[in-house]
Amino acid sequence: MDKNARICIIGGGPAGLSAGMYLEKKGYENYTVLERSDRVGGKCWSPTYNGRRYEMGAIMGVPSYYAVHDVEEFCGITHDGPQLNRNYKNAQGKVIEPFEPKKNLLKIPRLLKMKKQLKLFGELLETKYKGYDINGHRGVAEGRYEGFAVTPEREPVSGTNPNLKDLALPFSEFCKKNGVELVQDIWIGPFTSFGYGYFDEIPAGYVLKYLDFQTCMNFVKINLWTWKEGTQYIWEQLNEHLKNKARLNSTIEKVERRDGKVYVTVNGQVEEYDKIIVTAPLHIPGTRADGQKGMDEYFDVRDDEKELFSRIDYERYDVLAVETLPEDHPEISYYVFDNMVKERLGHLMVYYRRWRDSKEQVITTYALRKHKNMKEIPYEDCRRMVLNDLKTMKNPASKVVNEWSVYYFPHVFSVDYANGWYDKVEAMQDKYDTFYAGEIMSFGDMDETAEYSRELIERFF
Ligand SMILES: Cc1cc2nc3c(=O)[nH]c(=O)nc-3n(C[C@H](O)[C@H](O)[C@H](O)COP(=O)(O)OP(=O)(O)OC[C@H]3O[C@@H](n4cnc5c(N)ncnc54)[C@H](O)[C@@H]3O)c2cc1C
Repeated sequence: MDKNARICIIGGGPAGLSAGMYLEKKGYENYTVLERSDRVGGKCWSPTYNGRRYEMGAIMGVPSYYAVHDVEEFCGITHDGPQLNRNYKNAQGKVIEPFEPKKNLLKIPRLLKMKKQLKLFGELLETKYKGYDINGHRGVAEGRYEGFAVTPEREPVSGTNPNLKDLALPFSEFCKKNGVELVQDIWIGPFTSFGYGYFDEIPAGYVLKYLDFQTCMNFVKINLWTWKEGTQYIWEQLNEHLKNKARLNSTIEKVERRDGKVYVTVNGQVEEYDKIIVTAPLHIPGTRADGQKGMDEYFDVRDDEKELFSRIDYERYDVLAVETLPEDHPEISYYVFDNMVKERLGHLMVYYRRWRDSKEQVITTYALRKHKNMKEIPYEDCRRMVLNDLKTMKNPASKVVNEWSVYYFPHVFSVDYANGWYDKVEAMQDKYDTFYAGEIMSFGDMDETAEYSRELIERFF
């Protein structure tokens, strides 16, 4: 592609800003990032309370966050945040240690079996499912892997592996098929409680590309990264270091693609580009309750885009930031495994205490209120349930200081995954001078989205 190509990037979150960085690294400097809100970072949102930043969105990373590491290097920053610490409570608020055999004498046989299955699972992923952890979902439905290795060098890899088709199965079925059902007890912590849905509905491809074996073990060992100034800081810094800063408060009214050009109407002015990279949600149809625009509301969407993007679903994941009285402040963060089952939809699954040295801070709570086969729980009901749960946990809130329900983890279900949804969308890259990136194309975390942008630039620019 011509290095002077005029490239429009929609969205100033991790996907959009890292697309800018990787374009710049390849010598493309004629790019423009359009961000509709008044800040960058998207779902990395780190507001300030009592002079310190807390997390309303993304919290942590792992050592294999290579794209995030690229950003850190580019900006000269590092993951310098507070150590994560957590414990477990049951639904009645009693502290438990579910993985400690001495504390769970009756569960010893199950724990031993789980350990065995974990070992087997690690071996199966390395052998039977070789190629499972490649970023993005290209080729999976056809039993192929194609992309870049999950290593700091990210060398290109590709091959055939018909077993990869199993990744379309819901994760619970995938585990059953491989005789490793009990590993779900480990994977669930950083999956369902992090808002990514339930194992009987979400294809294994999403679960395992995000929580590849190594990453999951990093969660188990709490070998995790955080950022003192919050995850938003990573993207603020990137924006500062880019040659072209994101244009904030950009309301895109129209995108028209014709005659090999892309015309974008921003804040009433028509701008002409050669290519467009969309990292904003591709979902169709229409505007959602939270004001998130559907792609069909401002794009001249084509039939194939309409057909494919109307298949996208997403999670309803709610976050509250609450104050407590000092005597009610939790001493640490807690996971509530009992509430990570669909029968307890809408209940508190995890709550996070960020700073160990102070009680003058907010605690953030996390709940999911949608399962594909169940009635969605209204926002206000879920909020009430979570606040009640905090009382049950003996850490009642005295005040809610911040809250949001966010368009979270866009994904498709097993039928579409198996029918090659991803290969169809990948085949459309550049078809309308348009590239599709952001969460749906890989997975809803900072690194997978940034990594996908890296690969997209590598493949097409
Ligand atoms: C509560 C919570 C906890 C999380 N925890 C973690 C974690 O611990 N670790 C981790 O790695 N990830 C975590 N994530 C996920 C991570 O934040 C996201 O996956 C990541 O931010 C996705 O990046 P993105 O750029 O694709 O999308 P987003 O972050 O959603 O950014 C999209 C950007 O596009 C803008 N935009 C949307 N529509 C338009 C439009 N029409 N015009 C212009 N701009 C538009 C938005 O305003 C936004 O700035 C968490 C997210 C949440 C909400």
